[in-house]
Amino acid sequence: MNMNVKYFDHAATTSVDERVLKEMLPYFSENYGNPSSVYSIGKENKEIINIYRMKIANILGARVNEIYFTSCGSESDNLILKGIAFANKNIGNHIITTQIEHPAILDTCKFLEKFGFKITYLKPKENGIIDINDLEKSITRSTILISVMFANNEIGTIQPIKEIGEIAKKNKIFFHTDAVQAIGNVDINVKEYNIDALSMSAHKFYGPKGMGVAYINENVPFMRMQDGGHQERNKRAGTENVAGIVGTGKALEIATMELSKYNTHIKKLRDFYISEIMKRIKYVKLNGDLEKRLSGNANISFSGVDGSLLLEELDKKNICASSGSACSAGLLNPSHVLLAIGVPKNLARSSLRITFGKENTLEDTKYLVDNIEEIVNRLRH
Ligand SMILES: *Cc1c(COP(=O)(O)O)cnc(C)c1O
Repeated sequence: MNMNVKYFDHAATTSVDERVLKEMLPYFSENYGNPSSVYSIGKENKEIINIYRMKIANILGARVNEIYFTSCGSESDNLILKGIAFANKNIGNHIITTQIEHPAILDTCKFLEKFGFKITYLKPKENGIIDINDLEKSITRSTILISVMFANNEIGTIQPIKEIGEIAKKNKIFFHTDAVQAIGNVDINVKEYNIDALSMSAHKFYGPKGMGVAYINENVPFMRMQDGGHQERNKRAGTENVAGIVGTGKALEIATMELSKYNTHIKKLRDFYISEIMKRIKYVKLNGDLEKRLSGNANISFSGVDGSLLLEELDKKNICASSGSACSAGLLNPSHVLLAIGVPKNLARSSLRITFGKENTLEDTKYLVDNIEEIVNRLRH
């Protein structure tokens, strides 16, 4: 890999923190036992898994038996939505979500519609935040689940999770939040927020790829989606990814410990970036709320500039950025998130998502701004 790469796409993925990697390594080699085995190198790994499960539970304010390890954020979203929907079908068939969720939620909802579930997709306000009154009005007697993301992956907006949790509790509806973007950026306590289920993904907070966590409150009935062995208390079959679990726990521990330092750092760079862009380039629009957004996110539309061309030109300068979610990159379709918040199609196609991370410097950010200014001027001519 080119060591001169300037990486501004931390919402897509992050590198594994060296301390995380170091903690994981023994579980690829000497400590390779299967946690389900009866001999000691297996049993030791079962204990290791539970130590890391406990660390994660403590950080989230959950119980140790409420933490399930999965293979990614998408799997956690699938398991929680399908698992809760099918297990509670006798109570009701209505689910409330938003138009700006990640495809792992939206496509799972489309799947559930084929099985008789009714889904309400709330449209957020122009600032990217849902209206609590809309949520309350959409609740019916058959509503079993509300699924609203904690923070958006494209525009970084943070939803009123506490209020949503209170409404869900008052109406005896389960509340799930896709917290994949929020974990490592926001302090989250599931009991305080009345969250019944939560998804996270390790590679978004300097942990390994291929590791997800699903928190599911012990009082929420859910059906297992992956059949086979008795792992994860019979709720998710498959030999545990011991190294991945260790890496996830360690990464979350570091993220929690360094949360305020991290936020201060990335917010400084992000605010510098936004103010320089606004000062130096005409006809630009910041998408999403100014205040209620993740510290490292800036999503800006450059009127008259094709977003995919802009990315290609940035790539020639060794700059990694995104037009929105990684899942829709490469496609000409404008982002469903930007369209949902009322950004016109042409402006949605000219958006650039910059997401800052711990290795970024002010120097890198100046390089980024200089190049964007030069490229935007060139492409507009
Ligand atoms: C990245 C992401 C996911 C998917 O996580 P994976 O581990 O890549 O499957 C889900 N939701 C949001 C909000 C994300 O940003």
